[in-house]
Amino acid sequence: MADMTAPQSRQSVSTLELPVHGMDCASCTKKVQKSLAALPGVQTAEVLLSSEKAVVQFDPQQVDLDDLRHAVTEAGYRVPEPEAAPASTAGSDLSRTILRTFGIVFGMVLAIVVVGEWLGLFEAVTSRLPWPVWAVFLTAFGWPVFRSVVRAALKGQVISHTLMTVGLLAAVVVGEWAAALVVVFFMRVGDYTEKVTTERARRAVKDLAALAPQTARLVRDGSEVEVPIAEVRRGDTVVVRPGEKVPVDGEVVAGQATVNQAAITGESMPIEVEAGGKVFAATFAQLGSLRIKATGVGRDTTFGRVIKLVEEAETHRAEVQGVADKFSAYYLPVVAGIAMLTFVLSRDALATAAVLLVACSCSFALATPIAMLASVGAAAKRGLLIKGGKYLEALANADVLLVDKTGTLTFGKPQITDVVPFADVTADDLLRLAGSAERDSEHPLAEAVRQATTSRHLTLRPPNRFEALPGRGVRAVIEGVTVTVGSVRLVPEAAEHPRVKELESQGKTLLAVARDGVPVGVLAAADTPRPEVPEALNKLKQLGIRRVELLTGDNERTAAALAGRLDIGYRANLLPEDKIAVVKDYQTRGHTVVMVGDGVNDAPALAQADVGIAMGAAGTDVALEAAHIALLREDWGLVPQVFAVARRTMRVVRGNLGFTIAYNLVGLSLAAFGFLPPVLAAALQSIPDLGILANSSRLLKQR
Ligand code: ADP
Ligand code: MG
Repeated sequence: MADMTAPQSRQSVSTLELPVHGMDCASCTKKVQKSLAALPGVQTAEVLLSSEKAVVQFDPQQVDLDDLRHAVTEAGYRVPEPEAAPASTAGSDLSRTILRTFGIVFGMVLAIVVVGEWLGLFEAVTSRLPWPVWAVFLTAFGWPVFRSVVRAALKGQVISHTLMTVGLLAAVVVGEWAAALVVVFFMRVGDYTEKVTTERARRAVKDLAALAPQTARLVRDGSEVEVPIAEVRRGDTVVVRPGEKVPVDGEVVAGQATVNQAAITGESMPIEVEAGGKVFAATFAQLGSLRIKATGVGRDTTFGRVIKLVEEAETHRAEVQGVADKFSAYYLPVVAGIAMLTFVLSRDALATAAVLLVACSCSFALATPIAMLASVGAAAKRGLLIKGGKYLEALANADVLLVDKTGTLTFGKPQITDVVPFADVTADDLLRLAGSAERDSEHPLAEAVRQATTSRHLTLRPPNRFEALPGRGVRAVIEGVTVTVGSVRLVPEAAEHPRVKELESQGKTLLAVARDGVPVGVLAAADTPRPEVPEALNKLKQLGIRRVELLTGDNERTAAALAGRLDIGYRANLLPEDKIAVVKDYQTRGHTVVMVGDGVNDAPALAQADVGIAMGAAGTDVALEAAHIALLREDWGLVPQVFAVARRTMRVVRGNLGFTIAYNLVGLSLAAFGFLPPVLAAALQSIPDLGILANSSRLLKQR
């Protein structure tokens, strides 16, 4: 039973996470994905840039690890050996560092010499070297670049390095060996900056994943042993001492502690937990010790699921990214055309080379994902789980906000405030009847009724038949009598009682109770509104959300009372399917709709919205799954925050794209008209990447 995570080999489908190294561009993931998916027996392959891995579902009878590895290598990337001895890696790292340092120093000297000569600062030194020396240097230095170009060419692909290599050859043809070498140097520098750029954007996600607990203090045969987390199973008991990380999701069986949940909720104010309470993996106990019975371990914890969703976020691409990708695909042939035209019109090989060297298409592909990666990672650290750039994009364009009432605008913990029996029944009889009918309902109102019966020490009678009527109430058969508890619409005669109108206009939720169709009384429940809502709504209005509307299954007057207090619109008496219809209706009228709910009984409406935001989703799997954005902390303040994050992200994306476009336009024109020497064109290669990096880094430091 504990082994739910093992590969499902019985259905002959295995899932494997394969680390893939060497991917530094969004288009790289596509190449690896295609190569893996092309293998017979591979069902799905998802390649994630942020976590540098491929998640492959395959039939182990048809493909094995070697085939998968081969497919990755084939695409031009590496699968690192799992048992690489750390000592040997350190050794090769060292030699690589020495080589790189040497290369950088050599390249810089060369660049100074060439630029110096060009500016006439000193005599031509470079022309004295015989060409075979240059050829050797060029090949040695440019090897990785040439290799990737040839590999791509063999598969009929043209990459941005292809154009640059052609430009470089043009320089060689006219005898500009030194320029060619400088070009190679800057191509390598460009590759490196690109790598650093993705690396930085990935860091937020990686930092988060690094918070995962590694070991646990397991209680085994009465004594405590420290074991790797992989050995802990669901149902095991673990002990957490002060200052230690909680290794599992679980229920506290003994002890008491203040627990810092920042890793999950982003909130650093610790909370008190004691026996019976719930704790989450990756949080930590500050004061006091806990004995915990594990209900989830590893990937099967809230923290594990959050990490997985954040890692997968990049597969939900923003539309603007698709446009940019398409554009960069058309861009290379266009540049080749401009180069050809330049050569035909001016017969200037250097200008032609410069055109080929200045165009860098990878920046178009990087502009969006780098910003998204940075935002999603930074947000996750603050308790905001965003499932992809797609949702940030939609959120930035949103103009309608729909909110659920119970559990969203209110705490979702209603309490029975009034008990109004009709005719011949007593208050206790009424409560007992309602409580028995509600015994098996999961609705917050059912909980309120049950609590009221417990506090009056009433014993409930078990219902024989029970039926939940979503959005309306419940119906149960108790000792041969059919009892209905639910909204006044379910028992229309109850509406005529004079107290009903009065209680409703106080903003209370009414539950009418009927016995065999005859109304026997009403109960009123009041739920505490979340205090931070008015301020959050104000901020949202300032952010330009024109329409905010409350959607509720509750009655007209209750809805009006709450909506009036918050100064928002409302629609009452909605069944769950009506809520979906409202969302659809706004969408067909061209609005981008955001829906905020608790993710439990409004999951379908959340899924229908352009962006579904679930409130307080930590620990509720349904909400984590259903929503596009999950707020891991129950705090309305996060709602305007996530809107602001979306706006800021899209501004950065637009900035990145605008900068790249402007850079390429200016560069191309200067180059085509011969104002840009090839060496300079190559030297400016890294600028767009660096610009994108600098601009996107702003998103890592969110307030
Ligand atoms: P909301 O839209 O506020 O989240 P629901 O759609 O869950 O509310 O329910 C709408 C109305 O249906 C409630 O206000 C209540 O009158 C009635 N109702 C639903 N479930 C129950 C239940 N288990 N017991 C009593 N009344 C219920
Ligand atoms: Mg609800």
